[in-house]
Amino acid sequence: MTEAVIPPQLAIPETLAAGPGPGNTDARVLAAFANAGLADHMQADVLRGMVECKLMLRKVWGTRNIHTFGVAGTGFSGLDCLFSAILPGDRVVAFVNGTFSGIDALSIRMKAASREDLAADPMNPKPASVTVVNVPHGQSVTEEVIEAALAEHKPLWAFMAHWETGSGRTNDIRAFSDACERHGVMGLVDAVSSLGVADFAIDDYPGVVGWASCPQKGVLCLPLTYAPVSFSDRYISHLHANGCHSYVHHPVLEARHWAIIDGKDAAAGSYHRTHSGYAVAAFHEALRINLQHGRAEKARDYARHEAALRAAVTALGCDVTSDMTSLVVLNLPPALAGREKELVQTCRARDFGIWPTLSEPVQVRIGILNQLSPAAITDIVGRFAAVMNEMGAGVDPGLAQRALQAQYPAEMAAE
Ligand SMILES: *Cc1c(COP(=O)(O)O)cnc(C)c1O
Repeated sequence: MTEAVIPPQLAIPETLAAGPGPGNTDARVLAAFANAGLADHMQADVLRGMVECKLMLRKVWGTRNIHTFGVAGTGFSGLDCLFSAILPGDRVVAFVNGTFSGIDALSIRMKAASREDLAADPMNPKPASVTVVNVPHGQSVTEEVIEAALAEHKPLWAFMAHWETGSGRTNDIRAFSDACERHGVMGLVDAVSSLGVADFAIDDYPGVVGWASCPQKGVLCLPLTYAPVSFSDRYISHLHANGCHSYVHHPVLEARHWAIIDGKDAAAGSYHRTHSGYAVAAFHEALRINLQHGRAEKARDYARHEAALRAAVTALGCDVTSDMTSLVVLNLPPALAGREKELVQTCRARDFGIWPTLSEPVQVRIGILNQLSPAAITDIVGRFAAVMNEMGAGVDPGLAQRALQAQYPAEMAAE
């Protein structure tokens, strides 16, 4: 008889998550998750928590959309729910300027594909009804590009990422929403990286009928809890009239457990699938933290600390090409050019979790999710400079230190 080999209990170290996401889960969120009692998905406080989450999420997202709730899973679970109303043959224009909008466009092509389109290229279908507009890595999707594509193709749906985390570029959702309104197009937005970081309110963008985000970036919750989504009445009536091919990610059916029934808020939810009291408790605490911090205040804090990180890595000879406030995407100085992946691996081996870009050209990504203090930014810069020098960059860490002092005059006394 062979003895079953049981590995020792899994131990995972504490690391500094200084990438595009997941962020550093707030200690309050972890405590809420760990302290939740054992309770099923129809227990009264779990259902009440889901109702409170739904109401808090509407505030965090600045919307009166009734169909605003969390989809169990990751960002792409929320996006799958967002794209569920796209049916085979639907005309779609998708703007792509990096890794994530590229995956979103694949997901859209899969939804719009006919059986023949799928058979022709099962993993990467290319239905003729979907137009993908590619904007080069490192650039934003501009008003001119959006207007030209919507005017030419007159689609039913248009898609864009708000903040493209792959290349660290923000896209113009004002122009996107306005163009969608002008051309009678239903806009869909991937707000995975912007929710909880940028100061925006859904209801200011009436051309956008559906939004999806994720638990673990700006929202500060645990991965695999709830991906926020929000749908306008126009999206929902289109869905009512046309249906979709999903039970689990059906926006109307999934909303029922969040007590959104027949287009109205109900007193309590009804069963859709087995939700987790732990996940609900974590999401609830994350949303409370977001509301306590305040949307505008949080956005200002990100802008301030991103500016400090940007100034410090620039002082170290790096060239920053991003314009997001939760992330810097940079080219290394000439002495280290071509060694981006090695540098990232070295940092990661020191439990300092930064990232390369996942599409070409290879750049380095350093994020500051839930690292909003001069001490945290100073720590990130210090670790980064140390690894640069370990690899022979020969940079003066004092230059970065002085750049930080200039950014934080009140907190850091000049030497
Ligand atoms: C992170 C990210 C995703 C994917 O989210 P997962 O939680 O990994 O599924 C999608 N879009 C954007 C813009 C992202 O930043």
